Amino acid sequence: METQKLDEWLLELIRLTSCELAPDVERALCAARDAEQGRARSTLDWMLRNAQEARESSMPICQDTGSLIFYIDHGPDLDQEQMTQSFLRAVIKATERSLLRPNAVDPVSGKNTGNNLGVGAPVLHFHPGLAAGKLSVRLMLKGGGSENCGVQYALPDGSLQAGRDLNGVKRCVLDAALRAQGFGCAPGTLGVGIGGDRMTSFQESKEQFFRPLDDVNTDPILAAMEKELLESINQLEIGPMGFGGQSTVLGVKMGLRHRVPASYFVSVSYMCWAYRRRCLQVENGQAVYL
Ligand code: SF4
Repeated sequence: METQKLDEWLLELIRLTSCELAPDVERALCAARDAEQGRARSTLDWMLRNAQEARESSMPICQDTGSLIFYIDHGPDLDQEQMTQSFLRAVIKATERSLLRPNAVDPVSGKNTGNNLGVGAPVLHFHPGLAAGKLSVRLMLKGGGSENCGVQYALPDGSLQAGRDLNGVKRCVLDAALRAQGFGCAPGTLGVGIGGDRMTSFQESKEQFFRPLDDVNTDPILAAMEKELLESINQLEIGPMGFGGQSTVLGVKMGLRHRVPASYFVSVSYMCWAYRRRCLQVENGQAVYL
């Protein structure tokens, strides 16, 4: 794979993710707007106009372009070190072109590197395993306001009366939705990781954001929980940006990881209405963006 082409494809992936909502997200926001009235409706309308202007002018949908989290599946013909250099170059160029806000701050010195590169930034998850000539890159831009709403529970949790069972999991998700009120810009989407350890539980919750909003969980028990929680949260009347209404969340997406008997974690990640995730797929030298 030509290095120059890969650099260009990655830069376009970043531009698309920052400036154009994925079609399923825009459809969900339109459906939410059409079902609302009053301030909730006009708020969603402004969000959709914002998204349209961002797309037309190739400008970021939100000023906080967030952390860059890449998931890379590739074939044996691609070298991870060489690919890493392409990712870093694309991130630097995207920052220079104001497709990204400089968002990499050293937590000790407080200095911003100015180009979105730093220790652990951007986040690159490599997974070899595809056939030769194939590459799939998924990118999520995770804004700080929504990331701050993430919460992890260790069950049992006496304060929530949440035991180590699915009823306890539901109590955690409802609590996380209430806690996000006034912080993450609603309507949001909740990604839930059940089980795992502290790290993999949160990883699972974030990977849920790559599922299409209108899909149905392949696990019938989780599918029923997702539907029930979506309805329950939208009855809380928090609404878009907290202005009231039925559109507090666009979706609840749940996944599981096996746990050790002594631990039962539930991790809830929050994605705000500026739900930025896109995918680049390359096969036989041809790139497609999803
Ligand atoms: S929560 Fe989302 S929409 Fe709100 S400021 Fe942060 S990135 Fe932007």
